[in-house]
Amino acid sequence: MATATSRALPVFQPVPPPRGDLTRVRGLGRFLRWKHARTAVQVPMLLLAVVIVLDGFLGPQVAPENAAGVAPWVQWRGFVVLSLLVVGNLFCMACPFMLPRRLAKRLMPADRSWPSWLRGKWLALVLLVLFFWAYEALDLWNSPWLTAWVIVAYFAGAFVVDGFFKGAAFCKHVCPIGSFNFVNSLASPGEVRVRDAAVCDRCETKDCIRGRHDAAGRLVQSGCELWLFQPRKVGNMDCTFCLDCVHACPHDNVGIVARVPGAELVSERWRSGVGRLAGRPDLLALVLVVVFGGFMNAAGMIAPMRTLQTATAHALGVHSELALWTLFLLAGVFAVPALLLGVTAAASRWLGGGRVPARANLMRFGYGLVPVGFGMWLAHYGFHFLAGGLAIVPVLQRAGGDAGLPAGAPNWSLGGLVPDGLLLPIELVLLEAGLLGSIVLLHYISRSLYPDARAARRAFLPWAVLAVGLAAAGAWIMTRPMAMRGMMMMPGMEM
Ligand code: SF4
Ligand code: SF4
Repeated sequence: MATATSRALPVFQPVPPPRGDLTRVRGLGRFLRWKHARTAVQVPMLLLAVVIVLDGFLGPQVAPENAAGVAPWVQWRGFVVLSLLVVGNLFCMACPFMLPRRLAKRLMPADRSWPSWLRGKWLALVLLVLFFWAYEALDLWNSPWLTAWVIVAYFAGAFVVDGFFKGAAFCKHVCPIGSFNFVNSLASPGEVRVRDAAVCDRCETKDCIRGRHDAAGRLVQSGCELWLFQPRKVGNMDCTFCLDCVHACPHDNVGIVARVPGAELVSERWRSGVGRLAGRPDLLALVLVVVFGGFMNAAGMIAPMRTLQTATAHALGVHSELALWTLFLLAGVFAVPALLLGVTAAASRWLGGGRVPARANLMRFGYGLVPVGFGMWLAHYGFHFLAGGLAIVPVLQRAGGDAGLPAGAPNWSLGGLVPDGLLLPIELVLLEAGLLGSIVLLHYISRSLYPDARAARRAFLPWAVLAVGLAAAGAWIMTRPMAMRGMMMMPGMEM
């Protein structure tokens, strides 16, 4: 519908679609441009969440037999990383937590500004670390009941935060899952972006950020609630793929387009809603926690970790599981990374001739580790997904049977999507692809930081060594005996 504001643009010349624009793909594009597309994918996710929560509270408290013990930890995590690999932040697009939040916007005032002291990613970072901790220390993955409570708390959190505060405060400043997705989507091959900058130059309404209004001045379509102004948006940070900008733009000038993964991290230009990367220590801290958290999270499942914990318990005289996991987390996400990053940045500064201070060196090169970290998450979550993707079928049959539905007898032998022999090669390929991405990205970051090619090569070296070391550690972790999650216990596997 033409609006009072959109009529202000005198001439609109349709632009040829860029290659690889999902919103121009026959059928799919039409669906994505449909105003209710997001709701259409959120509703099935919400129903699934309800089933998971009910089963988590009422079903058997044996994780491999319960929807809350399988779906979030095997299928959902697998879909999240695979969609990030293939397109971008599709989970946030389909996020069911946003449906009650929409209700909150109607029922509650939603008129307060988010407190300035809570802006940025610090809160999300703390919650993400808390989640990593709970996952291991409280055996979240092994407790359907606790998993169901986490989901309920999530719905309540999104409802309350967005019921009181303007915009998408929960997504931008609070949500740890969204923050995980924001970081890893930096390595995704797709982004929501304008098709033709010249059309934006001529645009007088800027509905993509202001929202679309009808002739009476009523808002009929929100603009970007994450405060990303399309013509100045760079990359995927903070973008939930909600497609509000696609629907609001009166000139059909926004699409989901192909791009070079990670390219946005080479540029140091100012970006809408984010600022400069070099001026965002919170963002870098989040990125590094996600990167190192990937290795820590995978290491938490291998047999040598139990040996290390036993040795630590004896050495320190600490025998509480909670205390040991807390120590493990603090070491894996803070102490060891701080040491490695400090030494690497200092060496890079020295080799680069000392022109770039160590802090500035870290603030730029640190982002170059995103692909190798993403490779680790992919290898880890991809492993569980490929090894146990079908385990959800008998679980749903069991849940359906419990609810009195004719679901048939569960076949508990269902599990893997690919033969076991392919799992390790696939994991290693994903991990090494991430390493390759990091090496290329670090090279370009170095070239953008050091005008002198020789200094750039030398400054790049320590970071390349760190990336190779991380990938080697990941490969070592992947080749140890691992616990299977959300599946029936198999011979030779610990739980
Ligand atoms: S993306 Fe925004 S600025 Fe560009 S044409 Fe659309 S509404 Fe105007
Ligand atoms: S409205 Fe904002 S968050 Fe949503 S897709 Fe567009 S840029 Fe991303």
